[in-house]
Amino acid sequence: MGRVALVTGGTRGIGEAISKALAAEGYSVAATYAGNDEKAAAFTEATGIKTYKWDVADYDASAAGIAKVEEDLGPVDVVVANAGITWDGFFHKMTPEQWNKVIATNLTGVFNTVRPVWPGMRERKFGRVIVISSINGQKGQAGQVNYAATKAGDLGIVKSLAQEGARAGITANAVCPGYIGTEMVRAIPEDVLNSKIIPQIPAGRLGEPEEIARCVTFLASDDAGFINGSTISANGAQFFV
Ligand code: NDP
Repeated sequence: MGRVALVTGGTRGIGEAISKALAAEGYSVAATYAGNDEKAAAFTEATGIKTYKWDVADYDASAAGIAKVEEDLGPVDVVVANAGITWDGFFHKMTPEQWNKVIATNLTGVFNTVRPVWPGMRERKFGRVIVISSINGQKGQAGQVNYAATKAGDLGIVKSLAQEGARAGITANAVCPGYIGTEMVRAIPEDVLNSKIIPQIPAGRLGEPEEIARCVTFLASDDAGFINGSTISANGAQFFV
């Protein structure tokens, strides 16, 4: 295989499953994280996958971190912009700090992650950009104006990158998970999960991180070379209007 994959937020939750799935396919994987050193160390111990720590909201830190990844593993062929946070609240109570933090991490973080690897992908005439968006970017969500804005923004990013990169052999696609059983979702009170969220999912269950990882490995593969600017929704038939 010999290809190099970078997964932001690749040590926990959906990102952890993506890192492991790409490693199992033979990619040399770099998994990044923000601050949970203990989890990152346990992840490397269990998988042998190298981890790197930087804040995706910081462009200089991202560029320096990616330069180090490329020094260690070689040029990045596949970039998975997965790191993301929520900081929910109804709009009438949402503070500028809440708005700015989520935009900086989830939306500017995608720019900061993809921009440093893009020129190399153009030169080498190959690249895969995969952004983990969300069903809530497709349908909106009360209490998540900030988060939904970033996840809808991801779809604009990949559609535009697809048009810029297509002739250079680069694809850019999004995966929109529904509710997946990670710490982000398990943080929702259990009674809310059981009474409000799971009943909205026709599949009757949360998704598994591995079910998102399989979308990513497919989009990263040579077989997906003509899929560009697309969105894969993986949400247990939780259709939206
Ligand atoms: P988790 O909270 O389980 O994991 C988040 C990961 O991102 C961690 O590795 C964390 O690092 C890292 N991270 C967070 N902030 C930053 C930052 N500023 N810089 C670098 N890394 C950061 O998240 P999920 O696995 O649940 O979500 C992953 C992605 O999937 C997100 O973009 C999320 O919006 C999206 N998504 C999730 C859904 C779900 O149901 N879980 C549904 C739809 C979309 P550390 O461990 O150091 O904190």
